[in-house]
Amino acid sequence: MSNKPTLDDVLGAIGKSVGVDHKAIMVDVRANLAKLNACPRHDFQGIQDTSLGTLGDGSKWFRDYRCTRCGGKVDSHGYHWYQRGVEHGSAK
Ligand SMILES: [Zn+2]
Repeated sequence: MSNKPTLDDVLGAIGKSVGVDHKAIMVDVRANLAKLNACPRHDFQGIQDTSLGTLGDGSKWFRDYRCTRCGGKVDSHGYHWYQRGVEHGSAK
């Protein structure tokens, strides 16, 4: 038997120290993944993050993207690689 803490133990301790319920966050994460995995083809639109202002050319800054079809949300890295996959898939 090991006394090594599990990931759940560690996340629980961190969450407790900052007053965050890590289990509630995981429920939200799993629900988001379920939406994304069930969607046949995403149509992501940027969610404007006004806290970051605008870029030097005045264009809007998007940190996260939400699919208009399934409602799933991804960060800018997920959006970028999804779009690249779509481009590569259609460039046969
Ligand atoms: Zn979708």
